[in-house]
Amino acid sequence: MLRLPSFTYLAPATLADALRWKAEAGPAGTYVAGGTDLYPNMKRRQQEPRVVISLMGIPELKAVGRTAGQADGSVTLGSSLTLTELTARPADRLIAAVVHAAASVSTPLLRNMGTLGGNLCLDTRCNYYDQSYEWRKAIDFCMKKDGAICWVAPSSPRCWAVSSSDIAPVMVAIGAEYRLVGPQGERVVPAGRFYHNDGINYLTKQPDEILAEVRLPAPDGWDAVYHKLRRRGAFDFPVLGVAAWVKCGKRDGGRGKGQSDTVIQDARIVLGGVASYPQEVPEAAAALRGSPLTDETIAAAAEAAFRPSKPMDNTDFDLSWRKQMTRVYVRRALEELRTRTARR
Ligand SMILES: Cc1cc2nc3c(=O)[nH]c(=O)nc-3n(C[C@H](O)[C@H](O)[C@H](O)COP(=O)(O)OP(=O)(O)OC[C@H]3O[C@@H](n4cnc5c(N)ncnc54)[C@H](O)[C@@H]3O)c2cc1C
Ligand code: SF4
Repeated sequence: MLRLPSFTYLAPATLADALRWKAEAGPAGTYVAGGTDLYPNMKRRQQEPRVVISLMGIPELKAVGRTAGQADGSVTLGSSLTLTELTARPADRLIAAVVHAAASVSTPLLRNMGTLGGNLCLDTRCNYYDQSYEWRKAIDFCMKKDGAICWVAPSSPRCWAVSSSDIAPVMVAIGAEYRLVGPQGERVVPAGRFYHNDGINYLTKQPDEILAEVRLPAPDGWDAVYHKLRRRGAFDFPVLGVAAWVKCGKRDGGRGKGQSDTVIQDARIVLGGVASYPQEVPEAAAALRGSPLTDETIAAAAEAAFRPSKPMDNTDFDLSWRKQMTRVYVRRALEELRTRTARR
């Protein structure tokens, strides 16, 4: 049985106390929310904080509300909402893709503990890293923790561990914003700028900063879906996630003979599970803009997403098959959006 090492556990009731105690602990301190990622990592000695500061007793981080100064319909979600609390919210179109992604995380028990913020800050994953201390020691560790080499790409100067959050690609696709609170004050960053394509430094936030809330944009004519590939439907991390966001509008200059008058004004396609960050594919969006969602434009977007999708051989399934599935999952996501658009 893997055991947790001993550590000091602090439970602040305010953000100010959490920040102060983290500053006092320095690099030996870390935040925890539900602990469903951090505690298994501590048992495997992938992370070894001596001071663990819980965010779960801070009421502000549990709030749901309207975003101050934003258009009607925009919603703010506190980072300590559990995934179960998130999925219990009315699944209106505004956050249906977010709710769907949250519902696809792991199992009900882990969703009762795991939070939105923890999911968006989830450690990157790799078959050579998500192992016990003894297993990792037997291969002389790896660059991400305690070692010098990357076993996936031995000549590479960087770590290729995989972004495996289900909700992060959706947040990037819908253009959500994150409010970060740190010792220097607070700032708001677009979800797409919160992630780095680096398996070790995979977040752009400073270690002391707390992800306090997530701001979802107002509906404003857009729709989004999330499709996930995994081995077992009951509970597994994504080995591929596709978040697709489209905004429809009327064709400029009216419709010609045989043409649909509804076209895609804007789009974002974001892939999870294939890089160290949620990977936006602008080429796929470009294939959709200005056109209706026909079989041809969907196929062109799926092909455009397939090309830059470069999974590494460090998670489940054969990597060339996972790459092939990018095309299939992007197509399915866009077909679902087409069906939903037609029903409206
Ligand atoms: C068996 C199993 C299956 C899983 N399957 C999936 C899956 O299918 N999909 C998926 O996406 N995840 C999966 N997970 C991972 C995890 O359960 C979820 O991602 C969960 O939402 C993490 O939230 P948490 O609150 O438990 O995170 P924690 O473990 O509390 O924190 C995770 C990391 O985020 C940091 N952190 C947490 N909250 C904040 C904050 N507000 N501000 C700053 N830093 C913060 C912590 O310091 C830590 O580094 C699985 C885990 C297990 C054990
Ligand atoms: S990608 Fe390489 S450095 Fe990163 S965790 Fe895996 S083996 Fe280690």
